Amino acid sequence: MAPKVSLRPIVISGPSGTGKSTLLKKLFTDYPDSFGFSVSHTTRKPRPGEEDGISYNFVDRAAFDKLIADNAFLEHAEFSGNCYGTTIKAVQEVATKGKTCILDIDMQGVISVKKTDLNARFLFLAPPSLEELRSRLEGRGTESKDSVEKRMAQAEKEMEFAKTGAHDKTIVNDDLDKTYKELVDFIFDSSA
Ligand code: 5GP
Repeated sequence: MAPKVSLRPIVISGPSGTGKSTLLKKLFTDYPDSFGFSVSHTTRKPRPGEEDGISYNFVDRAAFDKLIADNAFLEHAEFSGNCYGTTIKAVQEVATKGKTCILDIDMQGVISVKKTDLNARFLFLAPPSLEELRSRLEGRGTESKDSVEKRMAQAEKEMEFAKTGAHDKTIVNDDLDKTYKELVDFIFDSSA
């Protein structure tokens, strides 16, 4: 049986390419009954292997703008030329299943969520270094040269933001198994 976990939502942020999706995939596989993912909307095109409605809800700009106009978003932001947003519904859907909601959002989202009454806990996942991050992003082969540069520029901002102490914990992903253990420890922290 999985240990008991607080129902406070958990926000995971950190530069694109740090390994958030890989770690979360493992968490959802290991604890399918405990956690639910807040599936964001994005105007970015799907990467190979990403499924609509599971990784993201992939929408065009008009549909995204309509959601903004309808006040459907808890928060939304522009990242690397694309729009991303968390709908109120996405978070509610997880809560109604009695699961702890996990959000994977950028620093603009963190700032916005802090202003809501979500009472979330914030985890920052950092790469070992910016050089390592660049080689991971390039090695992943999913980003154009331009996209890698935009993500690297944004990564520097995320790292600076993390220094302000906005997060409850920072974990450096220098070893997947070690990082996963630290992530699980944070998530199941009984004092939270
Ligand atoms: P990617 O394109 O690599 O999937 O995501 C790019 C960035 O957008 C990541 O930092 C990710 O955490 C962030 N992101 C994904 N969904 C959302 C969202 O709903 N809101 C915000 N603010 N950022 C998001």
